[in-house]
Amino acid sequence: MSEIPDEGQEFKLQANSELRFEVEAKAMVEIEMIEGQAEMFGTELAKNRKYSFVSGSKIAIFTWHGCVLQLRGKTEVAYMSKETPMTVYVNTHAALEQMREKAELENTRGPRILVVGPVDVGKSTLCRILVNYAVRLGRSPVLADIDVGQGNMGLPGTIGALVVERTADIEEGFQQTAPLVFHYGHKSANDNLQLYNLLVSRLAEIINVRCEQSKKVNCSGVIINTAGWIRGAGYEALKQAAGAFEVDVICVLDQERLYNQLKSDLPDFVKIVLLPKSGGVVERSQATRAESRDNRIREYFYGLKNNFFPHSFDVKFNDVKLFKVGAPSLPESCLPLGMKVIDNQTKLVPLLPSNNLLHHILSVSAATTVDQDIVETNVLGFIVVTGVDVEKGLFTVLSPSPRPLPKNILLVMDIQFMDIK
Ligand code: ADP
Repeated sequence: MSEIPDEGQEFKLQANSELRFEVEAKAMVEIEMIEGQAEMFGTELAKNRKYSFVSGSKIAIFTWHGCVLQLRGKTEVAYMSKETPMTVYVNTHAALEQMREKAELENTRGPRILVVGPVDVGKSTLCRILVNYAVRLGRSPVLADIDVGQGNMGLPGTIGALVVERTADIEEGFQQTAPLVFHYGHKSANDNLQLYNLLVSRLAEIINVRCEQSKKVNCSGVIINTAGWIRGAGYEALKQAAGAFEVDVICVLDQERLYNQLKSDLPDFVKIVLLPKSGGVVERSQATRAESRDNRIREYFYGLKNNFFPHSFDVKFNDVKLFKVGAPSLPESCLPLGMKVIDNQTKLVPLLPSNNLLHHILSVSAATTVDQDIVETNVLGFIVVTGVDVEKGLFTVLSPSPRPLPKNILLVMDIQFMDIK
């Protein structure tokens, strides 16, 4: 990481405008608000506090009333814009808040919102803004993420949810002390749609239970982020998610076609709103997307600023039980009577340890015995296999916590991670 220079650049922002910047590769950028009021994706900045952002971050600091910002460090771009969709977003928030007030009075369920749209339109950012605004009014909404490609709650290859009680930290995002995470294992919902749909329904079910336990969470509602796969089977998966979560509102970002399609396909009680995307959201290439996936995994083990110290230790094959979810499809004629091809996709398959495990990510299941429904049980965390010694009957892992592993049922992901700094 390069040093942040003392000399900064000053930006005077007028009301309703934002400063957008992208941190250069291998650089850090520091931002400080020296006058006025500003927020980043719905979280307010404290005056005279320096916030730093790591390489590749794409940031917008927005102000409703005007502010002065000092920026230090190397940026790819840094410019001010008055064209932002923030007023539309805050109006959306206001409408949701009305629904929460009504739910609170009538002791019913608050709004459940699905945020959909193509890739790179700011779906995750809109979820962050809506959740932050709700929290700033004292609400505790559930934020769910069913985008397995990025894995904002756990790692790529998972879906999950958490109850949010504090606004996202400017630098680190939402505090993830106890997210509920399910192992899926692949980076696209298309790789095993049957399993994906099953897990989405399971996640919705557990969120319902959580809502029943707390009136506050129940009337605050649920905000669900989705993947940018909106055609064909991807569209069907969105509809299935809308059904599973029993959503009241769908926010469609930037795509009239999808908006119209949902309007004609979903029942009338689901409100569908078309929202503009921000001109600040930059399209990412396949390579950047893969890189961001890798960064997410690295961040899990090493921390955002390389401030975590993961542990490396050996695990004996005999001490763990390895599984993957989904067996290769067999033709119907080869299956036992009465079993459909589709059943295979959500089946738990025992694996024998081998060199093939190398670099794969393993989810540590919360299940204690193999008699439990492991596929539908949440996971506690993740390890990555950094070495395999078949002769000695052990493998080496990188783990966020010291030995021993908290549980011994491990689920193997398709997704790999090379532990090279
Ligand atoms: P999606 O979820 O649709 O793929 P994201 O919300 O992840 O999109 O946004 C893509 C990138 O754009 C993120 O890195 C985010 O920080 C950045 N971004 C979002 N809004 C803005 C904005 N107004 N200005 C600059 N960058 C932005």
